[in-house]
Amino acid sequence: MSVIGIDFGNESCYIAVAKAGGIETIANDYSLRGTPSCVAFSPKNRILGVAAKNQMVTNMKNTVFGFKRLLGRKFSDPYVQKELKHFPFKVEQRQDDGIGIRVNYLGEDNVFTPEQITAMLLTKLKESATIALQTPINDCVISVPSYFTNSERNALLDAANIAGLNVLRLMNETTATALAYGIYKQDLPAPEEKPKNVVFVDFGHSSLQVSACAFNKGKLRVLATSTDAQCGGRDIDMALADYFCQDFISRLKLDARKNQRAFLRLLQEVEKLKKQMSANSTRLPINIECFMEERDVSSEMQRSQMEQICAETFTRIERTMRAVLHNSKLRPEDIHSVEIVGGSTRIPAVKNLIEQVFNKHASTTLNQDEAVSRGCALQCAMLSPAVRVREFSVTDVQPYAVRLAWDATKGEDGDMEVFSAFHAAPFSKMLTFYRKEPFSVSAYYSDQVPYPDTFIGQWHIRDVQPTAEGESQKVKLKVRVNIHGIITVASASLVEKKQDAAQNDNIEMENSNENSQGQDAAMDTNGASQDQQQNGPDNQEENADDKKDKSKDKTKKVLVKTIELPIDAQTHGLAKHDLNSFVEQEGKMQAQDRQEKERADARNALEEYVYELRGKLSEGEALHDFIAEDNRNRLVNQLDALEQWLYDEGEDQHRQVYSDKLAELRTEGEPIKQRRLEYELRPGALDDFSRAI
Ligand code: ATP
Ligand code: MG
Repeated sequence: MSVIGIDFGNESCYIAVAKAGGIETIANDYSLRGTPSCVAFSPKNRILGVAAKNQMVTNMKNTVFGFKRLLGRKFSDPYVQKELKHFPFKVEQRQDDGIGIRVNYLGEDNVFTPEQITAMLLTKLKESATIALQTPINDCVISVPSYFTNSERNALLDAANIAGLNVLRLMNETTATALAYGIYKQDLPAPEEKPKNVVFVDFGHSSLQVSACAFNKGKLRVLATSTDAQCGGRDIDMALADYFCQDFISRLKLDARKNQRAFLRLLQEVEKLKKQMSANSTRLPINIECFMEERDVSSEMQRSQMEQICAETFTRIERTMRAVLHNSKLRPEDIHSVEIVGGSTRIPAVKNLIEQVFNKHASTTLNQDEAVSRGCALQCAMLSPAVRVREFSVTDVQPYAVRLAWDATKGEDGDMEVFSAFHAAPFSKMLTFYRKEPFSVSAYYSDQVPYPDTFIGQWHIRDVQPTAEGESQKVKLKVRVNIHGIITVASASLVEKKQDAAQNDNIEMENSNENSQGQDAAMDTNGASQDQQQNGPDNQEENADDKKDKSKDKTKKVLVKTIELPIDAQTHGLAKHDLNSFVEQEGKMQAQDRQEKERADARNALEEYVYELRGKLSEGEALHDFIAEDNRNRLVNQLDALEQWLYDEGEDQHRQVYSDKLAELRTEGEPIKQRRLEYELRPGALDDFSRAI
């Protein structure tokens, strides 16, 4: 069993595997390490990854890309509405305001969710890894932008589930990069020394993510992050494409905006030009043949011009980089180095901005394209018993403040902040409530979250009843930001004080720390109590280590019985029956793809045999003299007819039809090859053969 790390990028995905000897990046069926995040549909099958990107211009309406931006969002989300203009394929509103992507597949209209499309891509990645590693793949760690909220994270987990992947962790992209950086560093300060602070800048296709991390020997702690989810390489491409559109309109009276195909080609050429400009500051040409109205277009640009055109993007980059200083409270002189990853950090202006903001050169210790996937593979190995790697503790952060709210009619405050922005994660907090009846709590992101919907979830705690004396019961809620960065109410328990420990098996020590794994220690926050506190929860936090000591003391004094209470959760993620039906649908589509591949392989095999045999039968070639002339002529005619058939009615036949024809043809071809072989081994054989014919 192999453990893999997946960088699920907006433009391309990378897969890395952790092996005993280190981390390796896996190549796909085109021997490329990057697999385009592209999924296409045809009348016969799905086309995934490189092949999908290659046919994009000719199958625009059925080639889906950019769907990482749609995961977990509502159709009415203004961000989604803004994105729509970038998609040549049809995106529509589902009944529940979810997103539907309408494509023509197997000759019929089909609507898929972003989770399903993502699952298709993950299926491809899983297949690439399975082929490369020759082992079944199940466990993985997948990267997510650090700004992803609960709904996006849940949507990605659902997608992985549909693809049959078991996600051990959704890992923030910049944290994965930090792990890939830290684990092999030999010169990290000892645990008690001042940490080495490193800033990571990941500027990709869709977004910019910056994080500040503190490293000591064997551990890293994310201090803070700052992100701009709407500032990436794509925005530079768009600004340049807009410029050239304007240029073509004014000089050539050609409006590429009116022709989706032309605009898509322009975008592709502009991206090439942008990459060339990263390495070259002189004037560079852009030429597109037969652009529109059967006319060729050409223009040119140089780097300084590009920097002017994209000034707004660069301002946003600078703002986001400065924000990480503010959020982490680090000054440039506290930072040891700034490590860059992501394709768009190759742009010289971005490196210059880094120098301006952090007062040091951008450093490129890491592989810019592969670092995220490598970090994920390392994390996967650490979480899985299958492979051993060096231990390295990773403490991430939860980027947004989270509030918990409840029914405030009882004179309590009714809400409190459970996690501050940049609170350590994963992490659990215990909240205590005093209740006589079932009750509900809801969680929200603070208003600062750059999403229209701040709702995280609502949890209804059932089976709460008054005590025999008619008093409130003590109910403890465990609110958790889990290993995927998802906020949940993980459990609710009724706490009953007990006099005699021997009476019940379920007796536990109060405050016994149920999950003191690393930084993931529980902390107590005394929650609302109707009887004892009129002002809502008393926000006392205890340091995890202190708490363990106290709990030791308490074991001697107070024995309690805890009863798990059932919770009805209402939060993001697919309903079970939808998930099951998507799993089933994915299975059918995979079977269809397999069938189509076998069919195409069978057709190719026949075609290849026809060409090979005919080639070898011609004058002066290997098999020419090993068949009598009459028979040869008949066979060549037969081969010509077969070729004709292959491009005609034989274009689209069942696999069996091709294999039958191939088998029949081989009964003619193989004996000729055999005679040739025998001749090579025993030259005299030809004499016998000549005499025989
Ligand atoms: P994201 O991280 O946003 O989800 P991603 O991980 O797929 O997306 P990357 O592969 O890091 O993105 O970067 C792709 C972007 O980098 C594209 O916009 C591409 O045009 C840009 N890019 C790649 N090479 C260069 C270069 N030499 N100069 C400028 N831009 C480049
Ligand atoms: Mg990326």
